[in-house]
Amino acid sequence: MRRAGELVVDRQVHAAEIARLHSHVVCWPTPSGCNIWTVAIGPDGYGRFYLTRDSVGFCVRPHRYALAIAGGSVAAGVLGLHECDNPVCVKIAADTDPHQHSVSGSQGDNMEWMARMRRGGGHAVRRCDSRGVRRERSVALCEAVRHSWDAAAVQAALLGDQPTLW
Ligand SMILES: [Zn+2]
Repeated sequence: MRRAGELVVDRQVHAAEIARLHSHVVCWPTPSGCNIWTVAIGPDGYGRFYLTRDSVGFCVRPHRYALAIAGGSVAAGVLGLHECDNPVCVKIAADTDPHQHSVSGSQGDNMEWMARMRRGGGHAVRRCDSRGVRRERSVALCEAVRHSWDAAAVQAALLGDQPTLW
């Protein structure tokens, strides 16, 4: 996997890639909800979007690709961060509400954000601190929406079994 190199997405040149990305996404039934990536999920719980350019195959995280669609490119070292704490969400934060969904940021921003979430800024979804739990949740969420929106299964995926920590 090519790690956080510069990713350029041109709406005309890469129109077929963009269409393919959208074909794998299911939108939440409410306007403020997440848009869910429904195919390949890596061991880290994040989606994988496979691309071939100039005969070279590589994969990127779909939410980072979505940021590149919105901005034309994402610079090397810049990641897509999830303010919604949903690794399979590919929705881009709206200017009107920058604290939603995917935003671009550095690894340092990511660390800061995770620390903030742990300090009590979290919300009523299962915490994704552990890689295994994160992947399990991502897969459950994709399964819940892939064929038709199953509200009960979505709820179960988000809340899951609360891990007992003490
Ligand atoms: Zn989201």
